[in-house]
Amino acid sequence: MYDIIVIGAGISGTSFAYKSSKFANTLLIEAQDYNTQIPERTNIYAEHNKPFIEELFWNDREIFPRDFIQLNYKSEQNDGLLHSKEFGAPLGKICHTEIFLKKLINRFKDNDGETKFNETVSKINHHQDFIELITNKGETIKAKTLILATGSRGFELQKSFGFETPDSFKGIYLNTFADEDLLDQNFTFQYMFHLNPNISMNGPFFFNIGKGRLSAGFLGNLESPSQLKDKLQRILQNYNKIQDFIKGITWDLNQVVVGDISKHPIKNMSKDRVLVLGEAAGLVTSFFYEGMLCGLASADIASKVIQSLLNNGSNFSKAELNNYDREVSKLLLEKYFRNGNACEYLFYKTNASTSKTIWDAYTDMLLKNKTVRQFVYDVLLIQDFTQYNTDNDRWVGEKLFGNLPIISKATLWPRFLKAMSF
Ligand SMILES: Cc1cc2nc3c(=O)[nH]c(=O)nc-3n(C[C@H](O)[C@H](O)[C@H](O)COP(=O)(O)OP(=O)(O)OC[C@H]3O[C@@H](n4cnc5c(N)ncnc54)[C@H](O)[C@@H]3O)c2cc1C
Repeated sequence: MYDIIVIGAGISGTSFAYKSSKFANTLLIEAQDYNTQIPERTNIYAEHNKPFIEELFWNDREIFPRDFIQLNYKSEQNDGLLHSKEFGAPLGKICHTEIFLKKLINRFKDNDGETKFNETVSKINHHQDFIELITNKGETIKAKTLILATGSRGFELQKSFGFETPDSFKGIYLNTFADEDLLDQNFTFQYMFHLNPNISMNGPFFFNIGKGRLSAGFLGNLESPSQLKDKLQRILQNYNKIQDFIKGITWDLNQVVVGDISKHPIKNMSKDRVLVLGEAAGLVTSFFYEGMLCGLASADIASKVIQSLLNNGSNFSKAELNNYDREVSKLLLEKYFRNGNACEYLFYKTNASTSKTIWDAYTDMLLKNKTVRQFVYDVLLIQDFTQYNTDNDRWVGEKLFGNLPIISKATLWPRFLKAMSF
């Protein structure tokens, strides 16, 4: 019998498994064949991820080969640039995430953690004293506790266990490789978050620029995977606002990944002997779609809660595991997620022309107003989210309203009033 079984080796499950392997007998199960290949991902890790990542990984230049020094919150009118040198430290780092996962798994194995890759958990039986899993290979495995870190791909399993599932959307992602000098020449920034209602009313088109590679993609509407792929192809070929950035770069559309992304956290993330982590629990911010931070943070909280219960010989009741829900709420939901919810309401839950007007006004304000840039910088660098300052968000909201065209103010003030009450 294992102390802990973790299902899902994304950022949430892998970082949890590594941390728990220091104090518990842990098994990590993943449906994909990670022994052969972990799919390439280039991601942005703002400095505020640092408290959840040990120095040995954070300072590893294979995992994080570049600093994140400039961002571009781009509208159709403006390149809304924020450069770290205006305020001091870098905004964070660029991560080659598959290397991060691989190194976490290697360390996990060094601590005697066990893995089963290319194996899917198809059924879970809940007994009073233990949890029993059945895999697609017919194996039966037992543990004292179970961690569901199955992202958006394990909803059936999650539901069969009586958990709610979060709202789910589709996104498309494409990684490609390019000469480092060419990337430096084309991109002064490492992250572009671009809202354009013609691309999507549900999220951004983005570029993440790594070392010798970059990724592009967008969070879509309700398109099918082939429609998303066609749209990405048209954007990369024809959309004139980005052509200067991607000059000389080639893309292999056969490599696209279409995936679900979930948001809007579920109410209960724990049951007797079970916790739900990361995206499976809807822990993704609803405007920027920041899932890495939430995966790392929820894994960190879960490992501390389980460690203390294991030390006390607990029977992992819902009442004891509820501490996890409380800590997740305190750290992420009570303050930080309110900003995401307000922005989601302002930019996504509206019509195309309103979204465009407000985003144009925001990017213009970012360029002109140093305090707004300072507040964005502060959020990217914050090291304790319990100290997150919602007053700054309200201040930015007021300034943003002030920066709208006069004609829009008359119609949009109720929307702003509501957003500021989130
Ligand atoms: C297009 C797109 C762009 C994004 N961009 C960003 C970004 O720039 N920054 C950011 O912070 N976030 C971003 N996100 C979100 C972020 O990638 C995710 O929220 C995060 O990776 C979720 O991690 P996770 O470990 O919770 O889940 P996942 O990474 O989805 O891992 C879940 C794992 O569980 C496995 N699994 C599922 N069911 C089973 C089962 N029954 N048995 C065994 N294994 C199972 C799956 O194979 C999978 O590997 C993006 C998402 C998308 C779709």
